[in-house]
Amino acid sequence: MRLTPATMYARLLESDATYNGRFFTGVLTTGIYCLPSCKARKPKAENVRFFPTAEGARAAGLRPCKKCHPDDFARGADPVLEAIEAVVAEVRATPSSFPDAKAVVRRSGFGPTRLFELFRQHWHATPAEVLLRARLEAAKLRLRQSRDGLLAIAHGVGFESVSVFHDHFRRRTGLTPAAWRSLESFRTFTVALPENYPLGYLRRAFSRDPHSVNERLDGDRYTAAVRLGDAPAVVRLHLQPDAVAVDTGGADAYAVHAVVAGWLGLEQDAAGFARAARSLGFARLVAGRENLRIVQTSSVFDGLLWAVIGQQINLPFACLLRRRLTELAGMPVGDGLFAPPTPAAVAALEPAALLPLQFSRQKADYVVGLSRRIVAGELDLEGLRTLSATRAERTLLALRGLGPWSVNYLMMRALGFADCVPLGDTGVTSGLQALMKLETRPDVAATRRLMAVFSPYRSLATAHLWQLHQPIPA
Ligand SMILES: [Zn+2]
Repeated sequence: MRLTPATMYARLLESDATYNGRFFTGVLTTGIYCLPSCKARKPKAENVRFFPTAEGARAAGLRPCKKCHPDDFARGADPVLEAIEAVVAEVRATPSSFPDAKAVVRRSGFGPTRLFELFRQHWHATPAEVLLRARLEAAKLRLRQSRDGLLAIAHGVGFESVSVFHDHFRRRTGLTPAAWRSLESFRTFTVALPENYPLGYLRRAFSRDPHSVNERLDGDRYTAAVRLGDAPAVVRLHLQPDAVAVDTGGADAYAVHAVVAGWLGLEQDAAGFARAARSLGFARLVAGRENLRIVQTSSVFDGLLWAVIGQQINLPFACLLRRRLTELAGMPVGDGLFAPPTPAAVAALEPAALLPLQFSRQKADYVVGLSRRIVAGELDLEGLRTLSATRAERTLLALRGLGPWSVNYLMMRALGFADCVPLGDTGVTSGLQALMKLETRPDVAATRRLMAVFSPYRSLATAHLWQLHQPIPA
């Protein structure tokens, strides 16, 4: 059946994703082109021109929409992914209208088994987990922006009781809802740790660069210079067996809490992975570190710098390059520490300025080029946190300077995705060889196959493989 302009216009008014790829909508007044499914404001019929391909729209001088990413779609049409993303957007907008995961299944139109699989593939999480996170995010917003009582908030975001709300909130944030609400009144707060938290591994991560100009661990005292947005801040932690005392140094306590929760990996299902590993016969992989977490970088840009700088070199050399870049483009905050550089500070450098620091020509180009794209508004790094894993991966893989290793590294260390494998990583391949008693190190295809058993926990499996040859810390 031939598509008439009237049919196409009607489909775009309906945001009909099933027509994605069958035509593209150019809007002459804004100069952009979209997929039929785009949720942006609907153009008037007289301002629309239809194109059979994205290339056709570009040839007419139009730019791709930043909301619906018609070029991504043109590269690989994926209406199922869009349907899943639309369901998750609804869950996030009104979590209270989904009393349980079954309601998410019903709303999606997919069968339960299929939806479970799609969520695992595209979000690295179950529908129940996505729903829980949406409730907690909505609750945080109401705790900060309203004076509503805890009962009203618990019910308002879909929890059946205050105690269930309280338990989930405390496990994921280390704070009670009431304590979280009053964060901004205090310069210090205390985050409760999950039971049997492996502090030795946290100390190891905090001191992985003993000469860092960015962070310092002294016994149980940790000091780090971070960026909260673009503002530099110095965060101090006192590590205790069951809690971490945080000194914000007067910075925005909510932003500091988010960074600390990421360092501690409170969102990660460490116990779930340990159970899965043991039941698969890989008790040795998790022995002595059942609660290991992946320490998240303090910002996505920080993760990006590590991901690009760390490509194909060893950790001590990566630390050295990183330190030199921080001294060149970061901000001194006193006491010999520097806050990490902002995208703007790196974008302002000429790549040639990094060569004396021992950056390769290519690495210098990548670091500066990516920073310039961020500054130009072409890459919304923090926004990647809200995308599906599939969309985040596609967005990152399309960038010059990021291959599969860097993209997966960034996704697991900075974006918190649970099911990533940095393919080609020597720590992963040598760990797999030892764990599975292989005669040779697995290549990329074998790594992918061997790691599949750990889905949907491949990020934690990677973190454990990295530690396999290391002594268990005190
Ligand atoms: Zn659009």
